[in-house]
Amino acid sequence: MKKLSVDVVVIGGGATGAGVVRDVAMRGYSVAILDKADLGQGTTGRYHGLLHSGGRYVVSDPHSATECAEENEVVRRIQAHAVEDTGGLFVVTPDDDLDYSNGFAAAAAAAQVPCEELTIREALRREPRLNPGIKRAFAVRDASVDGWQLVWGAANDAKRHGAHILTYHRVTGMEVVDGSVRQVTAIDEKRGEEVQIDCNFVLNCAGPWAGQIAGMAGCEEVEVVPGRGIMIAMNHRLVNSVVNRCIYPADGDILVPVHTVSIIGTTDVKATDPDQLAIPRDEVQQMLDAGEALVPGFREARAVHAWSGARPLFKDPKVSASDTRHMTRGMKILEHDTRDGVNGILSIIGGKLTTYRLMAEHMVDIMEEKLGNQNECKTAEEIIPGNEDRKTYAVTHRLEEREHDRFEDQIICECELMSRGMITQLMTEQPTASFDDLRRQLRLGMGPCQGGFCSMRATGIAVEEQMVDVERSTELMRLFLKNRWIGLWPILNGDQVRQTALDNWIFHGTFDIEHLPQSEEEAL
Ligand SMILES: Cc1cc2nc3c(=O)[nH]c(=O)nc-3n(C[C@H](O)[C@H](O)[C@H](O)COP(=O)(O)OP(=O)(O)OC[C@H]3O[C@@H](n4cnc5c(N)ncnc54)[C@H](O)[C@@H]3O)c2cc1C
Repeated sequence: MKKLSVDVVVIGGGATGAGVVRDVAMRGYSVAILDKADLGQGTTGRYHGLLHSGGRYVVSDPHSATECAEENEVVRRIQAHAVEDTGGLFVVTPDDDLDYSNGFAAAAAAAQVPCEELTIREALRREPRLNPGIKRAFAVRDASVDGWQLVWGAANDAKRHGAHILTYHRVTGMEVVDGSVRQVTAIDEKRGEEVQIDCNFVLNCAGPWAGQIAGMAGCEEVEVVPGRGIMIAMNHRLVNSVVNRCIYPADGDILVPVHTVSIIGTTDVKATDPDQLAIPRDEVQQMLDAGEALVPGFREARAVHAWSGARPLFKDPKVSASDTRHMTRGMKILEHDTRDGVNGILSIIGGKLTTYRLMAEHMVDIMEEKLGNQNECKTAEEIIPGNEDRKTYAVTHRLEEREHDRFEDQIICECELMSRGMITQLMTEQPTASFDDLRRQLRLGMGPCQGGFCSMRATGIAVEEQMVDVERSTELMRLFLKNRWIGLWPILNGDQVRQTALDNWIFHGTFDIEHLPQSEEEAL
């Protein structure tokens, strides 16, 4: 059994937990963050990729809109390398009523969300594929943000301030002594070992699983409703900037250019279990139709991957339990001492990735108040190391970087321009990482061919560099491909069938991966 003792334990390594552990560590506490999987593998790894300008909420939730506008600027400054400054548009399509747009600019001004009306001609100049029948267009400061770069950036900064980052550590229980949480128990999933962490405070940032964690400390009825939404990546950047429909927030009303693809989303349906999120085919069709309304010919592009995520929505007794669209997107911090009589634990629920830093600041401020301390929060001012030049990236950044090492570093993934050097460096830093873990940080297999070529190369390199043996490497590849398939089945139509047939031939025809020897663990 492993033992550790820290001031604070943060549970959940999504955007919220990463923001919280950074803040706690920067205020001088000893802290450990635990996630049952890799960082950013929950909702944070299954979201739309939009750094909100606030535009989406100016009418429905002006307070959230203002927070988004402010935090948008903060994230651009402190984590520039995770952000592509695409800009964004709100457009009224021929199918939309003009009524909503009539109040849009005034609502944006009231919420302090920068917004400028464009002529139709200017909007179409900026976005040549956009529906030429649009009736109005507004420019906002939306951007595209890589959630995994953001989370790892914050977590690595926390580590520099002394934090323990414990991935693949599933929290299984908490010990409450005299009404206060004193210990967190977890299982180290990679080693199968129990871990006990003594602490003075627990910050529950488990997103859609926050109710389960609060229950472990004896806090009752923390009902977190998973609001399931699906998204689909198309094989090109069909737009240069984020394009939103200028309507009251609805399904399929945003198209976001993310790295080499563009993502249409999303739906909002109440789910029962955040670990069991479906990707229904009717919702896939609904999203493709929604894309068509924004970009005529959308369906002719190839859908390369679909996934779904669960919004952690706190159940407000005033809103019907199935109406997830109208549950607040704002953050809610539960003080379990006054609410449930359990000291030394707070839970945070809801919010957005865009406001992750602010959410963390609020939560840590409350913890400090309870501990009788007043350390200053510096997370908005201190730039995360590596981002000091304050330049957001352009989609061509990897191409530009390649110009410097063209002949020295072999390209492994042509779609995402990922090199051998990048993969061997990360495998050295994180020797127990799976290929899925590498995918999240390097975009292995995330481009138009979805791993057809790069997954085999990564497997070979892992063996050649003696990171793992042949059997383990085969096991990692098979697991990687199995996980990729989850998001391929629901969109197997049209040209994607051809790509899949090619990939299938590479995997089964050339490499015969199903019949390669298994490791003992995999056989079990
Ligand atoms: C479909 C969809 C689209 C979205 N699009 C956007 C967008 O474009 N822009 C935006 O700003 N926001 C967006 N959001 C919202 C945003 O993604 C979430 O608010 C945010 O990612 C939540 O982060 P989190 O850290 O609170 O939760 P999570 O990322 O879910 O993190 C919780 C973590 O807790 C861990 N955990 C659970 N149980 C345990 C346990 N027992 N032990 C240890 N760890 C545990 C999980 O593994 C997980 O990593 C979207 C959400 C959805 C669902």
